[in-house]
Amino acid sequence: AKEAGRNGHRFFTEQMNRRVVEHLTMETQLRRALENNEFVLHYQPQMDLGEGTIVGVEALIRWNSREHGLVSPARFIPVAEESGLIVPIGAWVLREACRQAREWQVAGIDPFVMAVNLSAVQFRHHDLINSVINALVLSDLDSQWLELELTESILIQDAEATLEAIRRLKSLGIKLSVDDFGTGYSSLTYLKRFSVDKLKIDQSFVRDLARDPEDAAIVRAIIQMAHSLRLRTIAEGVETEELASLLRVFHCDEIQGYWLARPMPAREMEDFLRSHQTR
Ligand code: C2E
Ligand code: CA
Ligand code: CA
Ligand code: CA
Repeated sequence: AKEAGRNGHRFFTEQMNRRVVEHLTMETQLRRALENNEFVLHYQPQMDLGEGTIVGVEALIRWNSREHGLVSPARFIPVAEESGLIVPIGAWVLREACRQAREWQVAGIDPFVMAVNLSAVQFRHHDLINSVINALVLSDLDSQWLELELTESILIQDAEATLEAIRRLKSLGIKLSVDDFGTGYSSLTYLKRFSVDKLKIDQSFVRDLARDPEDAAIVRAIIQMAHSLRLRTIAEGVETEELASLLRVFHCDEIQGYWLARPMPAREMEDFLRSHQTR
């Protein structure tokens, strides 16, 4: 038994070591990726359910790694957050998303809001406001066309500092939304105090909406509550026409998901936007 315990322990540390090494390797590669321009943004449209027009586009980062091929953000964002690399990576995302949004405006495409994901680590970093200003100034994008997607975890930490950071961001004229809404612990009080503009109803409530009466009840309640606080709502993960129609019945303002379009490179997004122009 003693022997087995020791082996078990050794196995455990070997596994741990392997994970630490993998982590460090990826960290080094991420650092290089930034210098080598291995990151790209893909874009996914957001549609106004009332008007049927494209009112927003979410920027989603992709890593085209020399060693690993295309790496999903779910794998590398956590490493980037732990190492602090999310700060320069996030600043790049902001610059690139604003640059692209402005380029599309100049090319004559109807203006829409560019939504950029913000990690909690980025949010707490003292340089956040500067990197937002920097991205807007460099791109010449009017601040009304930039939206930052915050997670509920950002809102529940250190209320005073969060309130101050949000006040400064809002004073720039940009929009704020709460991503993955319903999965965290934010209360109505937070939503009122933080003056966000929009709630993104998490995919987990949307997916089975048509079959699960409880999910339907949750989604309807979120939409009603949001509207009584004068917030807009967007449902993410809308994969079918049935879901889109149901959400219209529920008075959800916007939808995003595979039914409308998958995230795609800028070139394809431009074609998509042109084919959905209203004028
Ligand atoms: P998220 O912000 O919740 O983004 C939505 C995710 O759902 C995206 O995955 C998107 O491709 C996917 N999705 C969109 N429509 C559908 C649908 O109809 N069905 C299903 N099943 N999925 C759908 P993606 O692009 O792999 O991104 C994963 C997560 O990585 C994001 O979740 C976000 O938390 C993070 N992320 C992505 N880009 C950035 C970034 O630039 N900065 C930061 N900090 N995080 C990012
Ligand atoms: Ca998001
Ligand atoms: Ca989300
Ligand atoms: Ca998510």
